[in-house]
Amino acid sequence: MARDHGERIGRSLGCRRCGRKRGLIRRHGLRICRQCFRDKAEEIGFKKLS
Ligand SMILES: [Zn+2]
Repeated sequence: MARDHGERIGRSLGCRRCGRKRGLIRRHGLRICRQCFRDKAEEIGFKKLS
C-alpha cells in the first residue's frame, strides 16, 4: 500500500496507446489521442476522405 494513485498510463484515462490525455479522441470507442489515431487509422483502415 505504498503507492495507490491508481493512475496507470494508458489504463484509466488518456490514450490507450500512449497514455496522453491531450487531443484525446473518443470516437468509435477508441479513446486514443489524435496522434495515435492517425497511426491507428491506417491500421484499422480509417482514411481521410480527400
Ligand atoms: Zn496516443
